[in-house]
Amino acid sequence: MRIDIHTHISPDRIAAPVLEGMTAQFGYQAVGINTIDGIKSHMRASGVDKSVVLGVVDRLEHIKPANDWLISIQDDMLVPFGAIHPDMDDMPGEVRRLRDAGIKGVKLHPMVNQFFPDDPKMFPLYEELGDDMVVEIHSGRWAHTKPEDTVYSPPNRIMNMIRQFPKMKVVCLHLGGFYMLDEAEKELIGKDNVIIDTTWPPELKEVGTDTLAAIINKHGADKVCFGTDFPLADMAKDSQFIESLPVPDAAKERILGENFRELAGL
Ligand SMILES: [Zn+2]
Repeated sequence: MRIDIHTHISPDRIAAPVLEGMTAQFGYQAVGINTIDGIKSHMRASGVDKSVVLGVVDRLEHIKPANDWLISIQDDMLVPFGAIHPDMDDMPGEVRRLRDAGIKGVKLHPMVNQFFPDDPKMFPLYEELGDDMVVEIHSGRWAHTKPEDTVYSPPNRIMNMIRQFPKMKVVCLHLGGFYMLDEAEKELIGKDNVIIDTTWPPELKEVGTDTLAAIINKHGADKVCFGTDFPLADMAKDSQFIESLPVPDAAKERILGENFRELAGL
């Protein structure tokens, strides 16, 4: 089974402005349409069976409606993960609501929501996530982050969170450190209880064959999952790049789907 564990889509009526905002902010070209129909046609064309749709919400008052929509789109192809905002009154309560509705995990975005993952105010959330819900967390910075900007999710602070909640199923996105691969290698790569994903827009190829193969070999292919950031990167191109790597075929199959299927119980 092939699974893209990192995608972003929106309800039809707001999808176009959201996509415009995304492509303007990051400077990447969209490779598809960020709607339910758009992602499903991209998945069919790319040979991807399931996509994890990550909830990311900037404003507190949008959390509940966003999560209501994510709950409603669950089906054979789409595996939505709930959005969490650090200023919510009751983060554990929202996790229980998501879990009861069949949701398998949450997305944390410290860069968008401006919090440090190892801030004790987040601990009640981690307690509630327990050892069943999966957490996908943005790791590293952005391509456009300036030296004076605060990096809320550097690899060392993520590792500090994982150390304190070793049973939590944490996936550190962007190879553990977007535009911070040296720090990721030092802090996260090869460590226990750390899972990483391969999301690297606009194209995973930019990481380079040798670097990506070295990360996979050091970290262990059983703890690496395929992700893209669709609609900012192409599922077919990025999965073909993984298939082209000088690692065993069995490892590629695990990365392209099996690891996450087991992790999330799909
Ligand atoms: Zn993303």
